[in-house]
Order: sequence, then C-alpha cells, then structure tokens
Amino acid sequence: MDDSQHNTLKQQIQKRIKELEILLNDDEAKSATDEDAAVESQITENEKRELAALKNNLRWLDTDDAGYCSECGCEIPFARLQAVLVTRICINCAQRI
Ligand SMILES: [Zn+2]
Repeated sequence: MDDSQHNTLKQQIQKRIKELEILLNDDEAKSATDEDAAVESQITENEKRELAALKNNLRWLDTDDAGYCSECGCEIPFARLQAVLVTRICINCAQRI
C-alpha cells in the first residue's frame, strides 16, 4: 500500500464513519412505534458494530501493521481493503475462519 492508497482508504473510512454517525443520530431522534423500534434497534446494533470496527481500522492504518493480515501477516490487497473497509484479514483467512 503506497501513501496515496493509504490516504484514499483513510478518507473512505472517515466518510463511512460520518455516514453511520448521522444514521445513528437520526435513529435516536426518531420516535418509532414498538414494532419499528425492535427492527430499528437491530439495525442500530449492526451500525454500532460497524462504526466500532471502522474506528479500530482507522487507528490500525496509522500503525506499522497497516494493511497486513492480522491472522497470517500477508499483505492484504488494496482492492479488498477498499471493498471491505472493516476487514483486517486477507481473503484466504476470511474463508478459513
Ligand atoms: Zn491472512
């Protein structure tokens, strides 16, 4: 991963974090019926998990391990990092686990 790829990826993650934060704020502001609330809280949980993973990966990108699979240590292809912003493992490890 070169510097411009590194920056591109960080920007993508930051953009997604902003989107999620707006979504989550909207959810909390809305007064839903009980039925809607059950569905919404499930969605909110997923969003919160994604948000946490994105924030972790943003920190990860500033370390020496950035872009390397946390399982096998190989270099994760940039295309995969872009496609799956929350990932920290290579495709081989993802299929194995
Ligand atoms: Zn791996």
